[in-house]
Formats: sequence, C-alpha cells, structure tokens
Amino acid sequence: MSEYQVAADALKGKTILVTGAGDGIGKAAAMAYAAHGATVILLGRTVKKLEAVYDAIVEAGYPQPAIVPLDMKGATEQNYKDMAETIAEQFGHLDGLLHNASLLGVLGPFEHTDFGSFNDVMQVNVTAQAMMTKALLPVLRQAPKASIVFTSSGVGRKGRAYWNAYAISKFATEGMMQVLAHECEGSQVRVNSINPGATRTGMRANAYPAENPMDLKTPEEILPVYLYLMSDDSSAENGGQFSAQ
Ligand code: NDP
Repeated sequence: MSEYQVAADALKGKTILVTGAGDGIGKAAAMAYAAHGATVILLGRTVKKLEAVYDAIVEAGYPQPAIVPLDMKGATEQNYKDMAETIAEQFGHLDGLLHNASLLGVLGPFEHTDFGSFNDVMQVNVTAQAMMTKALLPVLRQAPKASIVFTSSGVGRKGRAYWNAYAISKFATEGMMQVLAHECEGSQVRVNSINPGATRTGMRANAYPAENPMDLKTPEEILPVYLYLMSDDSSAENGGQFSAQ
C-alpha cells in the first residue's frame, strides 16, 4: 500500500471530515486530502491548531476548508446531530469521515487502572466516534460513494501488557468498524480501519519517551493508504483492516 499512487485530483469535489485535524497524523491527512482537491472539515478541540491548518490550506490555494471546534470528551449526541445538520445545509452530503482523534490515557499495570482516565479514553476513542458516526450516516448516505475510516493501532489487533484502556478502546474501534461494515454491505457506504504503525507524533513520544523520534516515519510518509481509502479507487473495499506501514 505504501507504493499506491493517487491521482492529483482524486478527491476533487469531495467533502471529507477529519477528527483531530490540528496535529499529528490528522493534520497531515487533512492537508493531503485538501491537496488532492477535497474540501476538508477540520474537527478538533484546540482552535488555534485548527486555525493554523486552515491557514496553511488556504495559503496553498487548496479548496477553502471549514472548522468545527469540538471536544469529543464532553460532546453530546445533540452536538453531533447539530453538526450533521450544518454539514447537510452547507455541503449537501459528506463523502468521507476519518476518525483519527484519540486519547492515549494512562499506560500501566491493570491493577493500577484509574477509571477517570479509563472512562475518558472510552468516551473519546469509542463512544464519541459511535455518536458521530450515527449522526453523520444520513449525510454520508447522500453521497454517491462514501468512505468511513477508523484509526486502530497494533494494540487494537493484538493485546499487549500495560496498554490498558487505549488497547481496549482500539479493539472496540475494530469491532465498531466490522459491525458497521457488515451493515453497509451492498450500499454506497464503505467502512475500513487503518493501523498507522509507529509514527513521529506527540502521542507516540508520550507512549515511548525513550525512543528517538527521528527513527520513525513522519505522518506525511504514511499517507498513501489514507488517500487510497478516501478515493474512489477503494470503492470495493469494505470491512478491511489496513496497515499504513
Ligand atoms: P496526536 O496526539 O498527535 O494527535 C491526536 C489529535 O486528536 C490531536 O489533534 C488532538 O487534539 C485530537 N484529540 C485528542 N483528544 C480530543 C478530543 N477530546 N476532542 C477532539 N480532538 C481530540 O496523535 P497521532 O497523530 O499520533 O494519532 C492519530 C491517531 O493514530 C490516533 O487515533 C492514534 O491512536 C493512532 N495511532 C497513532 C500511532 C503513532 O505512532 N503516532 C500508532 C498507532 C495508532 P489536540 O491537538 O488539541 O491535542
């Protein structure tokens, strides 16, 4: 998949929402989607970071993006319904949804689990993504072809000691992807997941403080599969577990 070459205008005319678009992989994916012609909806909790991505997209001459400031930890189902209505009014439909934002929480032995942090991780990584998907499905169904992409992790495919709520939430992410993909079979909506693999971001540095970040791929280097799953080249993919590296 790292060899995949996407056409320069592969996402022309598409509207794609990216969560956690202000930093790390989400920021790189949003920039790449815009560079390939998409109007991106930048969702995140830190407005300054979203504004910086917005400015970079506009300065590059890509389609004008939109910003949705939202903290997925506290957002309610009503917030997602309101957002879906606004997207329907402004864009008519949604062609792509990249669930990228997530929380690492606290890593450590199971006996030390702190349920405040555990619940925050489940809220942001699982419940908020389920609520957002439920609210956006009707707008996604309005698109000629729509793609929902969930972000998993190596520890969401094979459990590993001390990864606690984060790993559990990523298994739930894979489960949600499979349930939805099965429901969407035969429709114009497809649902898949990506494991980005070790990537040079703030989250990775928090998880592996002793690691040299320069040994890791940058977010920009892992984008081919992110572009593939949003382009019509992947129309036939549904229920797939992809790896970016
Ligand atoms: P970063 O921490 O760099 O970026 C995560 C983004 O999510 C940030 O923009 C952050 O916002 C946003 N976010 C976090 N919490 C919330 C919230 N409550 N509401 C809205 N937005 C929120 O992480 P990565 O880029 O590394 O990770 C992206 C995805 O890839 C995640 O799902 C992660 O689990 C996954 N992943 C990453 C790997 C890696 O090696 N980097 C490996 C495997 C999986 P803010 O900027 O305000 O903090």
